[in-house]
Order: sequence, then C-alpha cells, then structure tokens
Amino acid sequence: MPLIQVALATPLRRLFDYWPVAGEPLPAIGVRVKVPFGNRQMIGLVMGQVAATELPTHRIKAALAYLDTKPLFTQQHLDFLCWIASYYHQPLGDVLNVALPALLRQGQALHPPLEPRWELTQLGKQTAVATLQRAPRQAALLEFLQHGGQSKTQKALQAQGYSLAMLQGLQTKNLIELQKPASKTPGIGLPLLPLDEHLPNSVLAEVPLKLIKEQQQAIEVLMEKRATFSPILLQGVTGSGKTEVYLQFIQALLEEGKQVLVLIPEIGLTPQTLLRFEQRFNRRVVAMHSAMTDKERLDAWRSAMQGRAAVVLGTRSAIFTPLPNLGLIIVDEEHDASFKQQDRMRYQARDLAVMRAKQENIPVLLGSATPSLETLAKAKSGAYLWLHLRQRPGAGVQVPEPKLLDIRNRKLIGGFSEPLFFAMDKHLKAGNQVLVLLNRRGFAPVLMCTGCGWIAGCLHCDARMTWHREPPKLHCHHCDQKQPLPSQCPQCVEGELKPLGAGTERAEETLLERYPDIPVIRLDRDSVRNRNDLATKLDQIALERPAILLGTQMLAKGHHFPDVTLATLLNADHGLYSSDPRAMERTAQLLIQVAGRAGRAEKLGEVIVQTHHSDDPRLEKLCVEGYEALALDLLEERQQINWPPYAHLAMLRAEAPRTEQVEMLMRLLAEQANLMNQEAVTLLGPVPAPMERRQGRYHMQLLLHANQRAPLHRLIDRLLGWLETSPEARKVRWSLDIDPEDLF
Ligand code: ADP
Ligand code: ZN
Ligand code: ZN
Repeated sequence: MPLIQVALATPLRRLFDYWPVAGEPLPAIGVRVKVPFGNRQMIGLVMGQVAATELPTHRIKAALAYLDTKPLFTQQHLDFLCWIASYYHQPLGDVLNVALPALLRQGQALHPPLEPRWELTQLGKQTAVATLQRAPRQAALLEFLQHGGQSKTQKALQAQGYSLAMLQGLQTKNLIELQKPASKTPGIGLPLLPLDEHLPNSVLAEVPLKLIKEQQQAIEVLMEKRATFSPILLQGVTGSGKTEVYLQFIQALLEEGKQVLVLIPEIGLTPQTLLRFEQRFNRRVVAMHSAMTDKERLDAWRSAMQGRAAVVLGTRSAIFTPLPNLGLIIVDEEHDASFKQQDRMRYQARDLAVMRAKQENIPVLLGSATPSLETLAKAKSGAYLWLHLRQRPGAGVQVPEPKLLDIRNRKLIGGFSEPLFFAMDKHLKAGNQVLVLLNRRGFAPVLMCTGCGWIAGCLHCDARMTWHREPPKLHCHHCDQKQPLPSQCPQCVEGELKPLGAGTERAEETLLERYPDIPVIRLDRDSVRNRNDLATKLDQIALERPAILLGTQMLAKGHHFPDVTLATLLNADHGLYSSDPRAMERTAQLLIQVAGRAGRAEKLGEVIVQTHHSDDPRLEKLCVEGYEALALDLLEERQQINWPPYAHLAMLRAEAPRTEQVEMLMRLLAEQANLMNQEAVTLLGPVPAPMERRQGRYHMQLLLHANQRAPLHRLIDRLLGWLETSPEARKVRWSLDIDPEDLF
C-alpha cells in the first residue's frame, strides 16, 4: 500500500509519511488531512504519495480523516507555494499556514454545512388536506408543502409564517420529516464557474475617464504585454492617474474572463479604495486584509479559489490566494515597507508577485511615485519595462517642489518653528487644509529629569520609554511594556521631569494652543485603532476647512485630500545619518509622499520640510531634481558598496534570556559557516543586534553577504541543517530572514 506525504506546520522542513485513511480511496493532492502527530492531532495537506519510506513500518501511523473531497489548490498553485518554501528555507507547512484561511487550518469545511430541509413523507403526499380540519394551521402548512412541491428549510417556512409547533404537529402525524442534505462540496472552480450567471454581460458599470496622452500611451503598451510574463514599473507622481490606468487595464483582462489580484499597502485599503473598484465593474470585487473576521476571510478566499471573485484587493498575504484564472497582478505603492513580512514566515510580497506572474506567464504591474531601489534597478537595466506618468491630469496643478526650512538654532515649540507657523497661518487663513507629518507617536519620545539627567528607560529593552498623555503612561514601543508616569525623579527625587522632543500628541497640544478655533484631526495608531476610526476621521477631513491634519505616515499614504495646500514634514533628519543604507531611501520616499498630498485639486500647493541639515546634498537633490534623480544616485552608491540590489543578503538572528547562550550558538554558527563556506559568501558578524536587549532577551545577528544567490542559498541550506540538529540551538530562539530589509 502506498503512503501519503503530508505537509504539517512544524519547524521541520520536510514532509511526513502516513498510511492512508483505512477504507477510503486514496486522497488527491491538495486535500486536507487530519493526522496524529506526537500526542496530538494536526491538520495538514496531502502533497503526494510514496511507495516506501525509510521508517520502520511499525512507526508509521495512519491518517485519521480527509477533510476535503476535492483539492483546495491546483498543482500550479502548490508549485508556487513549494517554491516559496524553498526560496525562504521555510517548512512547507508554515507556508501553507499563511496560505490557508484560519478556519480551514482549524479543520472547518470549505463550504458552510447545508441546512436540513422539511419534506413530505409518502403519507404526507397522499393525505388530503381536508382530513386536518381540526388543525387548520397545520392543514395550511400541509397544503403549502403539497403545492410548493419542494422541500423547504425551517428558516424559509418560518419566514412564510409557519411555526415550529406546526411543523412538529405534522411530524408527529408522520406527514413530514426532516431530511439531512447530501453533502455537496464543489472544489476548485476548474473549469471555471462562469462569473455569476446573473451578472450583466458588460464588465463596466460606469464610463471610464478619458485618458490623457501619457495614460493612453501607457495603456497601449500594457495591452500589448497582457498575455505574457512582463514585469512593468509604472512610475508616476501621486495624483498622476495610476489608479485610472490600473482600472482600465483590469477592465481589459476582466473582459477576457480573467481574474486580477491587486496588492496594496497595509493601511492603504480604505473603504474608498474598495468602492472605487466596485463602482467601476459589474463584477465581484473582494477584499482581503487582516482586519476581517475569519468567516469573512474564508468567504472571500472561497470565492477567489472558485473563480467567482473577479478582482481580489488585498494586503500582502493576499499574494497566497488561489486564483485559478489569474491574468494580472498589480502591486500598488510597491515601495511600501508593509509588503515585507517581518516576523514568523518572512517574505516580500512584491517579490512573490513577480515570481508568481512569471510562473503563470502573466503581466505584473508595479506602481509607485517613489519606486524601491530594487525595482528601479531592474527598470534601469531593462529587465522591467519602465513607464512614466509625469503629468497630473485635470486642472494642471503639478506637484510642488519641497522647500527646506533649516531649524538649526531655532526655537521649536512642540516641534514647530516660527517660520513654519507663519506659513501655516497663511494657508489656514485662506480656508485651506494643512497637513503635518510627524513619524512619532505619543507625547514625547523621551522623559528626562532636568536635575540629574535621568531618562526613563525600558526595563526589558535597550530603549527609552515614550511618554504618552492619553492615557498617561510610559510605553515601550519595542516590547509593549507600560508603566505609570513617575510623579518624581526616581534617581534624585527633586529634579523636574521634562519631555524631550515631540510626538503627535505634543504636536496636537501645541496646535490646539496656537489655533484654538481650527479643528486638528489626528491620525496615528493611538487615535485610529480600526477601520471605523479611520473612516470617521476621513469623513471629518472631507468636511472641515480650514483644518489641520496631523499624523504619522498613516497620513502620507494613498488618501486624496484635495483641500490640502500646505504639507509639511516636521523632521526630515531621521534618515540622513543613519548607518542603515536604506534609511535615506525611506526618508526620500516619505518626503515625496508627503509632497504628493499638497495641491492635488485645483489649488496650488506648498511643501515645507524642517531639517537641521538643509545643506545636505542628498536632500537638496531630492527637492530640486526629484526622487528619481536621488534614487539613481543612491543606486550608484549601493553598487559601489556592493549592497542590494547589486548583492544578496540573508540574516540569521538569535535570541535567548541569557547572553552566553546566544553568544555560544552564534560563535558555533559562524565557525560552521566558515567551514562550509567556499568564500563566495562573506560573513558580517556575528554581532549584538542594534538593540541588544529587547523584551528581556538578548539578541545577536549574523549577516551573510554574497554576489550570487546560488552560493548564499547553498550555504544557508547547510547551516540550517546544522542548526536543526545542534543541541546549542535548542536553548535559543533563532530565525532566518532572506533578503532582509531591516538590519538596524
Ligand atoms: P494616482 O493613483 O496616481 O494617485 P489617481 O488615478 O487616483 O492617481 O488619479 C488622481 C485623480 O485624478 C483622481 O481624482 C482621478 O479621478 C483623476 N484622474 C485620473 N485620470 C484622469 C483623467 N484621464 N482625466 C481626468 N481626471 C483624471
Ligand atoms: Zn533626577
Ligand atoms: Zn521594552
């Protein structure tokens, strides 16, 4: 008898062999199966069959039950998931864990169970209604069923006014019985269920905008590329009409009966975005994001995998959605950091989108005003097609050039300089909105004693506690530890405790003092906790003017604020002198995204950036020549220091409660790496992590650097083999990050 091979979410990177379920036909690949594992039961996915195994026969256990009658994934999609597991060196079971909705992981049926139905018995069919004279209501029910001819669910009958008591009355007389439905479980919609039959023939529900010349040229190129693998960068300033190009390209694919996957950043999926897609098409558009309930997610997933959803609009994990008739993938704001999953199964959804498109032989469209250096390098080398939108359609208001405002030697009030206030006064007086971006939550990042210099630090991390006002507390943003505010300095008792620097709460307080009559609408993770909060704030923004919109990067992404005429970044210095080669790229992207918020409608805008380094040549270049000019410089720098995208990285991280445990493991690991390495890979480290102590644990890291991917991945394979069997590794929590983005 053959054995079945099962993928399980365990740390071991291999499949597990089981005897098939006794008395049942062999399962298809891609069916869920319940198996015993150690002393518990797990749900896995059948990945194949083998004739024999190395294990002694008596150690092989039998699978307990198959949970699906048809596969959940096509072979092609399974190949994609297997490729992900091998590229990221992750157990396939972990990849499946991300790919399957929670309810399916927990063993729930793909389809909600069908409800039992009331049916006439043979006797019920023959009995004349008149014999029930003394129970007129039961008689009416009997007549209804006899004439309705069909079985009915209890809900349907009750909706018609027939009560449970009447049903039970007829049941006691053996006139009706409750029938369990035969289970009917359609699997993957192959061949595709046509999009719901009642849908109108026309894909379009509204007339599309008339494209301006650049958009038209872009669409023409896209149409030529629509049937084969073609990675394309669509670079266009905010408001240049990228979304309109997406919509018209999507339309072409929907008309061919294809499905389209659109990935958007974590906080970019607002009800407005969804609405814009729904309004355009007479086809089902489903959302997929982390704020959905498990049931909503399963419903969306199912309609995608059955080919009923035409457009899936989702955040990074939507890249795993099975779409049997996929024709196009779009990654909007492709530079956005939220496409990289930073914990557990680490992956970069944008890279996966390109990989998936290649495998499916379809186009993949990456859109951004500020493309990542990775994508830009590919466009520059010709590997990706490079399309530009340089104009803003409509009233002809272009993106304003950011002005640097040097704040060296200037007094700051809650983060604001006097000249900045002056500019704000002007825009507010004109009845417009002003946008203030400050990438720091809380009241102040530091609480300090002016008497002795004591600073509130986290007990568990090498980090300062952020002072929050509402509610009052000290909060560590790295380990989530909270403490009450001290009433006096714990070190010298008499010194005065003062805030250093400003977060959004402090900026808000400052603004309310200075502009008591103007609404200040704050958007950050403390004031916007869910999609409802966000919708409320966005409604408020649509109504109030003049108004000040204050917030973290949440404010810089994706939204249209047509009445903002002044956008300002309170502090641009963060990326300038960081040791992280990526910091300047991130700062530049943020600055340009902020600038893109100003003057989007007919109104001319102004952008002011406060900095202590207005003479920094990179900042100057960014403001005068624009993002692309700076980005190409940064790419050259990356090439000179031989850093991604011109080289490849992998990061091994380890942490444990005790320093010695981590140090020991990392030393052995580096030794192994040196032994196994054939010089194609450079070891950077091991070194303590930039924040050595976090959450009460000690962290170290080893960065591997190589010019070619192949030797890097070969070395990692060997190192993981060693780690998985080394006794030292058991005391330490370790993780692997391929193509890491946060090194510092
Ligand atoms: P992006 O996605 O690049 O930020 P959008 O597609 O959202 O740009 O377009 C910005 C604004 O310009 C929207 O209000 C949109 O309706 C409008 N717009 C886009 N294309 C056109 C066009 N061809 N003619 C007129 N208005 C347009
Ligand atoms: Zn003190
Ligand atoms: Zn902490």
